[in-house]
Amino acid sequence: MAAGSIAVGLLVLALKVTAWWVTGSAALFSDAAESTVNVAAAIVALLALRFAAQPADANHPYGHDKAEFFAAVIEGSMIVLAAALIAEQAWQTFLHPEPLQHPLPGVVLNAGSSVINLAWSRMLLRSGTKLRSPTLMADGKHLLSDVVTSVGVLIGVGLVLLTGLPWLDPAVAVLAASYVLASGILVIKGSVGGLMDAAPAGEIVDRIRTIVGEQAQGAIEAHDLRTRHAGRLTFLEFHLVVPGAMAVQDAHAICDRIEAALKAEMDGLMITIHVEPEGKAKHHGVLVL
Ligand code: ZN
Ligand code: ZN
Repeated sequence: MAAGSIAVGLLVLALKVTAWWVTGSAALFSDAAESTVNVAAAIVALLALRFAAQPADANHPYGHDKAEFFAAVIEGSMIVLAAALIAEQAWQTFLHPEPLQHPLPGVVLNAGSSVINLAWSRMLLRSGTKLRSPTLMADGKHLLSDVVTSVGVLIGVGLVLLTGLPWLDPAVAVLAASYVLASGILVIKGSVGGLMDAAPAGEIVDRIRTIVGEQAQGAIEAHDLRTRHAGRLTFLEFHLVVPGAMAVQDAHAICDRIEAALKAEMDGLMITIHVEPEGKAKHHGVLVL
């Protein structure tokens, strides 16, 4: 499926570059630049998914899941670069406007590439739903949004042809550049949190606290609860205060009970619990009766 996406991406890219080539349109250039990034991003995503799926080893004892965040930041940076290239092309076209050459074949080629994109995105969304794959769904939605921008670009080129106003072409390209820039920043923002060990969503942390509270009978309190996530894994650690005279075996049984309850409800949890005697109690954090 991923290899298919790359093949379709290359075909669409060839059509869009040709469309730009025959017309010299800045708007059609913006569409081709976006497609170039899509193909590069698909290749990076494929490599990252393969790397992230490798089991933990001596070099990376916490696993390789963060490769996905890395890939997303690289993709986002490429998208931002594409936006800069589009803006530059729009500026040049604005300074030296020229009537579009061979607009009709350009529009037909670009429209044809959008039809291919639309068909492939529907195929991705269908198998993504069937296989419950977030990656395939994300790919499909991304391609669908490309179809929407391409339609916008085609409308812009059509307006240039109808009105004969040359500045409309770079204006459409600038609109496309802003859209591409915004989506690039969103992609980067979504992954920097993961690289910086941001906490998962508040509801998830609240649910973890509730489960710990429910399952910790026999312990005095839990504190210093911290979570971070890497790809599909969530790392959780906290201190569990128990009576100092409690047998290690009994304290460990409490830990096992908490871990089992958490893992029953949440996928990909990696839990570390540090057991302490009552003298270490802080009396804040999650209090346990
Ligand atoms: Zn402590
Ligand atoms: Zn254990």
